[in-house]
Amino acid sequence: MNITGVIEEVRAQVKEWKRRGLSVGLVPTMGYLHEGHKSLIDRAAAENDRVVVSDFVNPIQFGVNEDLSTYPRDIEADKKLCQAAGADLIFHPKPEEMYAADFSTYVEMQKVSEGLCGKSRPTHFRGVCTVVCKLFHIVTPDRAYFGQKDAQQLAVIRRMVRDLDMDIQIVGCPIIREEDGLAKSSRNTYLSVEERKAALVLSQAVFHGEALMKQGERRADIILGEMREILAAEPLARTDYAEMVDADSIQPLDVAEGRVLVAIAVFIGTTRLIDNFIFEVF
Ligand code: AMP
Repeated sequence: MNITGVIEEVRAQVKEWKRRGLSVGLVPTMGYLHEGHKSLIDRAAAENDRVVVSDFVNPIQFGVNEDLSTYPRDIEADKKLCQAAGADLIFHPKPEEMYAADFSTYVEMQKVSEGLCGKSRPTHFRGVCTVVCKLFHIVTPDRAYFGQKDAQQLAVIRRMVRDLDMDIQIVGCPIIREEDGLAKSSRNTYLSVEERKAALVLSQAVFHGEALMKQGERRADIILGEMREILAAEPLARTDYAEMVDADSIQPLDVAEGRVLVAIAVFIGTTRLIDNFIFEVF
């Protein structure tokens, strides 16, 4: 496995693979890799001849008061995980390699990126779309792998690929959780012991909402009301949102219909965590 921070080296390597007729999978990440990321790399390795993992804390997807400077980083541990998972190349650029001092072109999306996380993080998806578009141009993968954990991000990327005719298959992968239910996240490392316990309300709310839907409940106000009650009962938790939306368009639903996404974002202390479930009603 190789690692490089240089765009031209990635291009040269991928060109050489493609000359040999090999397929290429891309797993975009911000590093500090865990089992959730590993599940994407494993899947990419199973479905492609070669796998590129990008490991880049993308500054332009962070808002001014967000955690860019404190975001956890450990490239040595990331290398080990990538190697074990069967990655062939890690792309680990410096911000200057990705963004020229006079960088001025962005990918902006309407609607799909505006609700849920887009409401409290108004420039976030512009940063995500722009960096993912750049990664797609640098790596030119056949397939790219994203986690359902960031369900709105997955919907946004699918829409970008469709709208801009990118010839890349987007593969969504299930949420990987800790044994007690908490969705794995690099941001979980911010949590104190007390906060780590409190963070369980996210998965408890998600599992409760999912159980209600399995029992046949379809009304958003009932499902979200009960989920919000679970979240409100935890003193260390402050709910940013709990919403039911169409999983593809991210438009709000009053009654569950089609492929439904129920998503929450909750502050545990100062750490903002997200979780969700998808439920199909046909
Ligand atoms: P990040 O490094 O947080 O930007 O995540 C990189 C990719 O890994 C994204 O596609 C995430 O959705 C995915 N991912 C992060 N955590 C998990 C998880 N617990 N389960 C599945 N995928 C995940």
